[in-house]
Parts: sequence; structure tokens; C-alpha cells
Amino acid sequence: EHPTLLVSACLLGQPVRYDGHSKGLPATLHAALAARYRLIIICPEVAGGLPTPRPPAELAGGDGHAVLRQAATVRTAAGGDVSQEFITGAQLALQLAQQQQCRIALLKANSPSCGNLQVYSGRFDGQLQDGQGVTAALLSAHGITVYNETQLEQLLD
Ligand code: SF4
Repeated sequence: EHPTLLVSACLLGQPVRYDGHSKGLPATLHAALAARYRLIIICPEVAGGLPTPRPPAELAGGDGHAVLRQAATVRTAAGGDVSQEFITGAQLALQLAQQQQCRIALLKANSPSCGNLQVYSGRFDGQLQDGQGVTAALLSAHGITVYNETQLEQLLD
């Protein structure tokens, strides 16, 4: 039986991003992943109750680990606090990953939920900084290794 891999829905072509679009991987890569893994698909922001499209949000005052400790927030450019939706989505992603025995995840880079290495600054200025999104943080804290779409060779070697 193939190992399971938790995957961001937008990377598999589902139009769940804030702007109503997807960021689908090329078909050959999608096929290569599907041949090697049983793919478990989730969009944490949609799972957490946010609509699509939705205003873009960024982490404010800390990364996803800080949001989970309620020491930082997730905010829209207008200042709306969507932290609870992001936390709920992360919890549902963790629950699904644990149910499906995923030890690894492939999540979209730079997202305030899914980013595994960097996230946007919180100033809506397009600048990235080191840190994890809320879902990537919760999965990592529970021993699930999170990769992004620029690290695919590590999943397909
Ligand atoms: Fe993609 Fe993750 Fe954003 Fe959903 S929350 S659109 S899966 S990057």
C-alpha cells in the first residue's frame, strides 16, 4: 500500500485560493505524486470556514506557532481578525492527517496557512520573512514533515 501524503488542495488544481484560482502543479508532477502516494487533500482555510474568494490575510505579530499560542493574529488588510478560522482549519488538517496516517505533507509555499518556510510580512508589502503558516506550524509540532512545491524532488526521488 502506498504511503499517504497530505496535500494543499490548490496545488492539485482546486480553485480554493483567496482569489478564487488554483496553483495547480503540472499534470506530470500530479501524476507522479499520485503514482507514489495516496493523496489526502485539504484546503485548511476553506475547512476552517472561510469563503472563496476571500480577502487575502497575513500573519501579524508572529508566525503560525505564535498564532496557535494566541500570541499573534491572522489579519486581512482591512484589519479583520481571521485567526480563529485559520486555527480551526489547522486543527482539521491535523485531524485528517492523523486519521489517514500521513507522516509527510506537501503544502503551498508562502501561504499564511500552508507556508512551511516563509510567510508574508504582515504589512501587505509583498515581502517574505522566515516562519511557518498556521497549518504548517501545527503539523510540524506534531511530527509531520512539511514540504512545499519547490521541494518536490525530495518527495519523488
Ligand atoms: Fe492553498 Fe493552503 Fe491557501 Fe488553501 S489555505 S488555498 S490549500 S495555500
